[in-house]
Amino acid sequence: MSLNGKIALVTGSTSGIGLGVATQLAKSGADIVLNGFGDADQIQKLCNDIQKNYNVKCIHKNADIGDAASVETMINDVIASWGRIDILVNNAGIQFVSQTEDFPIDQWRKIIDINLSGVFFGTKYVLPSMKKNKFGRIVNIASAHGLVASKGKAAYVAAKHGVVGFTKVVGLETARDDVTCNAICPGWVLTPLVQKQIDDLKQRENLSESEATEKLLGEKQPNLRFATPEEIGDMTVYLCSDAARNVTGTTLSIDGGWTAQ
Ligand code: NAD
Repeated sequence: MSLNGKIALVTGSTSGIGLGVATQLAKSGADIVLNGFGDADQIQKLCNDIQKNYNVKCIHKNADIGDAASVETMINDVIASWGRIDILVNNAGIQFVSQTEDFPIDQWRKIIDINLSGVFFGTKYVLPSMKKNKFGRIVNIASAHGLVASKGKAAYVAAKHGVVGFTKVVGLETARDDVTCNAICPGWVLTPLVQKQIDDLKQRENLSESEATEKLLGEKQPNLRFATPEEIGDMTVYLCSDAARNVTGTTLSIDGGWTAQ
């Protein structure tokens, strides 16, 4: 599926799923704007590798996705230098686990700001240009936790359910503009965000790495296999392709059977 000449901005793409998505979009021919935090030299190397391996352009913007003004500036800067944004992948996200009565207010606010409001900010600021160009693909990386709940994840589950609802609204509002908006709902993907939960489980229950990993997968994901960032990337490429032009306002799961239960 060719995305030659398309311009894609992937939030939170210096690591994990976002990097897998940016890589698969580049492989399909899209020029890439990486976003996210990390060591400046390592991020520059990621950009150089994407440019060299796939013969596309790549730049990095370190906007904080939880901050509306930073997101607006980033989007305006990209449109000013590259002319437009065809594909926006709202991926940046964080996690914090605690029972509701103990959930720290600042962690609640941070998760809602980045995981939910950030999706709104990116979409809000990119839509005028997409509508004007009569082309746009917005892909929100939600979660199985956008469809079902787990204990200890009040803020994350609330934010991801919010993303799924927001996706439906934008799908409706853009239906006549050749813009689509969809949410991908991954189950477990082995990234730094999930490795931290494995580490916590190891410590809490005195388990080895493999015991903790088996327990984490066994509780939720019936196929007992992590999805990979590249698989989430391939699903994103599909949603950005002509083949998916009638797919909008909906969710696609990639969760090894998690939400079939
Ligand atoms: P990760 O920790 O590997 O990567 C998160 C990325 O977001 C990094 O590039 C980080 O720099 C960036 N980031 C964090 N805060 C940011 C901010 N304020 N502004 C800009 N960038 C910021 O995490 P991941 O597992 O790859 O998660 C990516 C997305 O996928 C998240 O929205 C997460 O909720 C979702 N998700 C992950 C899983 C999983 O199992 N890993 C499952 C379902 C959904």
